[in-house]
Amino acid sequence: MAPHPETWLQPRPEGLFCIPGGFHIDATRAVDRAIITHGHADHARPGHHHVLASVETLAIMRARMGEGRAGITRQALAIGEILRIGDVDVSLVPAGHVLGSCQVVMDYQGSRAVVSGDYKRRADPTCAPFAPVVCDVFVTEATFGLPVFRHPDTDKEIAKLLHSMSVFPERPHLIGAYGLGKSQRMIALLRAAGYDAPIYLHGALTKLCTLYAELGIDLGDLRPATVADKAALHGAVVIAPPSAVADRWARRLDDPVVAVASGWMRVRQRAKASGVELPLIISDHADWDELLATVIDVQAPEIWVTHGNEAALIYQLGKMGRIGRALSLIGYGEDADDT
Ligand SMILES: [Zn+2]
Ligand SMILES: [Zn+2]
Repeated sequence: MAPHPETWLQPRPEGLFCIPGGFHIDATRAVDRAIITHGHADHARPGHHHVLASVETLAIMRARMGEGRAGITRQALAIGEILRIGDVDVSLVPAGHVLGSCQVVMDYQGSRAVVSGDYKRRADPTCAPFAPVVCDVFVTEATFGLPVFRHPDTDKEIAKLLHSMSVFPERPHLIGAYGLGKSQRMIALLRAAGYDAPIYLHGALTKLCTLYAELGIDLGDLRPATVADKAALHGAVVIAPPSAVADRWARRLDDPVVAVASGWMRVRQRAKASGVELPLIISDHADWDELLATVIDVQAPEIWVTHGNEAALIYQLGKMGRIGRALSLIGYGEDADDT
């Protein structure tokens, strides 16, 4: 009989450890051998000895951490390629979260576990879509694991933004969006909606937008917001990290319409408290319905939840005849890098 994944995949203080493979997944402390699901700072930590990830994730890690800290030795694994590590067959499958994000599929003696990392099920022009893999244990996040979190259609949110731009053609639209994934997705969604004017960037976003373009994600005409004169920014779209939207940086703009693109914008008080005039509910994480649909798609009798609102999800899993287990891994979702 195939061994149960709990005998060979263990939550440890520094992250999930695959015993017969001798590697960690998204370890939160420096380890000998790490597989990284994606480049967000709470999953991709510096200082590992050996790093295995998708080509894009390795490039993102290098860009964010610098050559020396992104792993002493690095190995790229192509989508669909199977690599034997110790006694385990490992492969990567797209997670649909940000460019390069992958689920880690592990097969050991007829038993299969899949670690999703962060994921979403909606279309995103900047990355490959999530592919469900049938497994015995599915390890999921639960960032938006409450029934109240049902993200609206992305197109509807983009239409809201375009409508505001037509109502206030003179005002700059300042969009707060996280540096890895969300800002590039916002740009790509605007381009897909036919917006082809230059888009202005906060300096903190330049490097990753350039890297996305190098990796084949066309983002159109991007310009630095810092050197543009105030008049050039009238009626323009400006993208900045959410932290910059709230601080002095935003004062360089004349009477901006302040928007923030985040799943948390679903919480109205949160939008109001941060002075957001135009909340855009656009998330790179699965909402409640997507979490439940995924559980059904992967057909796993047992679901392990790494972080987020695990209690409500585990209760719901029980009602669906699944076993839910909270791993309560420390260190994920803290960075506020990726909602
Ligand atoms: Zn995360
Ligand atoms: Zn993430």
